[in-house]
This record gives sequence, C-alpha cells and structure tokens, in this order.
Amino acid sequence: MTKGVFSGMKPAMMMKKFKGAGRAAVGIFLFLNLFFGGGAVFASAPPENAEGIILEPKLLFQGGICRVTVYPQEGYKVKSARFAANPLILKKMADGGYTGIIGAGLKERPGRKRLTVKLFSDQGVSRVLSRKILVKQKKYPEEHLKVSKKMVEFPPPILRRVLADQQAVRNACSRVTSMIYWDLPFIWPVNSRILSPFGLHRFFNGQPRSPHSGVDLRARTGTVIKAPNHGRVVLVRDCYLSGNTVVIDHGGGLFTLYAHLSQVGVKKGEMVKKGEVIGLAGATGRATGPHLHWGVSLNGVRVDPAMLMELFGS
Ligand SMILES: [Zn+2]
Repeated sequence: MTKGVFSGMKPAMMMKKFKGAGRAAVGIFLFLNLFFGGGAVFASAPPENAEGIILEPKLLFQGGICRVTVYPQEGYKVKSARFAANPLILKKMADGGYTGIIGAGLKERPGRKRLTVKLFSDQGVSRVLSRKILVKQKKYPEEHLKVSKKMVEFPPPILRRVLADQQAVRNACSRVTSMIYWDLPFIWPVNSRILSPFGLHRFFNGQPRSPHSGVDLRARTGTVIKAPNHGRVVLVRDCYLSGNTVVIDHGGGLFTLYAHLSQVGVKKGEMVKKGEVIGLAGATGRATGPHLHWGVSLNGVRVDPAMLMELFGS
C-alpha cells in the first residue's frame, strides 16, 4: 500500500480478518443480475449493423471499473469520448468495435455520470452517442488491528518524506497520454493469489486509515515481476512506505504501480513490453513480509486491480 502507514502484514492475520469479502462479491453479482438485466445498452454483442454502447458490468461501484465497447453504425468512426470530467481514450478492436476503461474512485460521489461518444462519418457528418452510467456506493471489508504507536505516528522528517513520496506517485499518475499502449489481454504481474484485497478499510487502534490502494499478491523475495501490458516507465523511486516503487503508464490515463520490490530492472522513461521483467518482489519499505503490492490508477484515482484482470485479463 502506498497511502496508509502500514505496508504489509502476515498473510494469516489478513485472511482471518476479511472473510466478508467473498460474500460481498456474491451479493454484488446477484444485484447486477436482478437489477440490470436489460435497458438501453446491449447485454452482449449488438445485432448486426446496430449501433450501441456495451457496458460490462452495467454500472460502476466506488473503486471499480467498467469496460466500455462502442460499435458505431457502418460508415462511422469514433472521434472522441468522455466519461464525467475525463477524456475516455478508446482503442479500435479487430471486430470493428472500440473499447476502453472507465472507473470510479473510492470517494466518487454516487449518482449518474454521463458517457458521451462523438462519431464522424466518411462524409464528415458527426453524431453523438450518450449514456448515463450509475455510480453506486460500495462497502469494503474492514480490518481492525492493534499496533504499536511507532507504526502509526511519524517524526516530522519521516512524515515529510512520506508526503513527498505520495506527491511523486500522484504526479506520475496524473499525466494522461492520449494514445493507448496496451493490447488485450492484460496479464497478472505475478501468478499467485491475493493476500489482501483492494479497498480493505483498516483501523489501527480504532483510528481509520486510508483504504488499501491496491492488492497484495503473494510473492517471495526474488520472484520475477512482469509488466501486465505494454507501457512506459514513469516512476522509479525508493519510497519510505512502499520501498522500491515502479509506475508504468499504459496510456489513456491508466497506470500500474509495483511496491516493495527487492530489485528494480527498469529505468524511468523506458518502454516496456507485456511480460517483460520489471523487477523482483521483496519487502523493501514498511513491509512485514515479502509480497507484491500492485496498484492500478485510472485518471488519478485508484481502482481495483482484480477487476481490471476480471474484465481485461487473460
Ligand atoms: Zn498493499
């Protein structure tokens, strides 16, 4: 984790605490099926020659993402798209559709947000497709821990360093590249299992901390960490909490972050290919044990990496 104070914990302790997560996921699945079974958007591929926007899933949860696929009418191409306040960069697919990712931060205000897609024809005629997408509140599991005061409070010089690290990561994830580097599917940076889920709300000695900004993946020190897709390395930094940290820009406002690495194998500015080794897992920074903290940032807000893999992964 990069925002909180605590950078890792023993897997056994973790697993005990967030048993509720699986049940929550089942609940969401049922909810989606019950309430969003139809409507203006197509459930699967649109009928032949029809024009439409496909959303998967059909609504956004706080901290979640949604896959948008646009099928323009024959003779039309996508010119540009927007979701709420952000540009949405769509990638042309082999089947003639255009696909992209929209997301909502954990603090996104629930309500309906507008998605607009501008189309233009070969004859220069332009049209606009538009949908309202529901952003829904989501309650993430909680974890209550008793920790020593030392783990919660920092002396001023350390606090300054922590804040500077956070600013550097925010800056790295804020520049939106108008082109998309990724292609489908995304691959997991390490093939293992999730020790701690995204959004987990931690309380230290009863005090709420920042929710978990990524997923913790089981990885021993020295485990090879791979780029989940093509991109440009935009940050390599030794951070106080997240240790050796790498950020990759995948284009279109999408970034991935890797923390606690024992070794970094890439340099800032370098282009990386999907599957390329970017470093080795470790326990640098404030981590109680080796693991990979993997974060995903979309348009400056953290979203659930597990959902990226569910919708865009192999
Ligand atoms: Zn973490």
